[in-house]
Amino acid sequence: MMSLLTKAREGIITPEMKQVAACENVAPEFIRQGVAEGTIVIPGNINHKTLVPVGIGKGLRTKVSASIGLYGSEAIISEEIEKVKTALAAGTNALMDLSVSGDIDTMRKETLNSAFVPVGTLPVYQAIAEAGKKYGSTVKMDVEEMFEVIERHAADGVDFLALHCATTMEVVERAKKEGRLDPLVSYGGTHLIGWMIANQCENPLYEQFDRVLEIARKYNVTLSLADGMRPGCLADSLDGAQVHELVILGELVRRAREAGVQIMIKGPGHMPLDHVKATVTLQKSLCKGAPYFVFGPLLTDIAAGYDHINAAIGGALSAWAGAEFLCYVTPAEHIGVPSVAQVREGVIAARIAAHAGDLGKGLKGANQWDLEMSMARKKLDWKRQMELALDPHRAEEIRNTRNREKSTACAMCGKYCAMEIVAKYLNTAKQSC
Ligand code: SF4
Repeated sequence: MMSLLTKAREGIITPEMKQVAACENVAPEFIRQGVAEGTIVIPGNINHKTLVPVGIGKGLRTKVSASIGLYGSEAIISEEIEKVKTALAAGTNALMDLSVSGDIDTMRKETLNSAFVPVGTLPVYQAIAEAGKKYGSTVKMDVEEMFEVIERHAADGVDFLALHCATTMEVVERAKKEGRLDPLVSYGGTHLIGWMIANQCENPLYEQFDRVLEIARKYNVTLSLADGMRPGCLADSLDGAQVHELVILGELVRRAREAGVQIMIKGPGHMPLDHVKATVTLQKSLCKGAPYFVFGPLLTDIAAGYDHINAAIGGALSAWAGAEFLCYVTPAEHIGVPSVAQVREGVIAARIAAHAGDLGKGLKGANQWDLEMSMARKKLDWKRQMELALDPHRAEEIRNTRNREKSTACAMCGKYCAMEIVAKYLNTAKQSC
């Protein structure tokens, strides 16, 4: 079977490319060329039957992903599926099932059945959980069994696989020497490194990367290579270990492309505001323009309870600097498992960040939405304002509960409404954009 990347290189415009082009309002040839060059990916497993293709990459709208999953002994699949539906209704462009416990196979299958957007997983989480159950210790994880879990996810229809393929022994040694403040915060990366140190073995995902590529090619899975050395606090941002791993990720991007496998890179994490542009520029340069999937990023370590806002600021800056895919962060980050309502807040915050980033980088057509809203505000056209609001439900709720006088303006300035005064004296209300 010819992969999507190979078809693009052969000059073939596929139905997925046409669908993405129509959705993004660009020419199909633009999408084909981006896929061929690796700057655009269209995750789409041959076994994910309910999928509507989504393009991620250069020249396209910035996308957002929401993470759900079973965590701890009290996790219930039906509650997580409610979060899946909530995230989809709030407009997420992708989902990640990051289950670490319970019936992970059923959770994944139900997520895939409920989702019309690309679904990603981190299969090593399940390999770790199964090793813990079977051998009583995660460091006894069997490499063959880990690859079996990776293939199980791919065979089920997962569209993008997050794997820590570049967290090598050399990178780990560098981190040890440099003395990080928070040595490791990536769950999958930490367990994998624990396994490597306990067994004195190189990372099998790096050593056997060709095997990873083979599985990805077989099911047309996109790789989302994650950084095990993702900084977990501002103090560790852009240290030697992080940059070293990014250099190796760049090498793996080249190998994946040569094998006809679509690839994107998942990145930090925590970083100060002045590191955002440098981090994105480094990734773009070292990984030859592969789409960048950023976790947040969080620009301060002290916003517990409000990390969705923290991440939205970081996400907007990252998107403006060139990142194309934002992993949402909820208000529960660093504190607990998010509720359904917090999942919704996380998606909306990430969507604001993505759109702000697109406006900042001057993405063609991105400002049309804002122009229409400005005109509706000028005309005090509340119906239209509600239709255009990114979260109409929230905007209407506030309008209905906070406009007790049922004013044509709003309760903020009341009879001194600037819009009404401008319309009255400058007669501008009837102008159109
Ligand atoms: S009352 Fe003030 S805040 Fe409300 S619409 Fe008019 S100018 Fe805007």
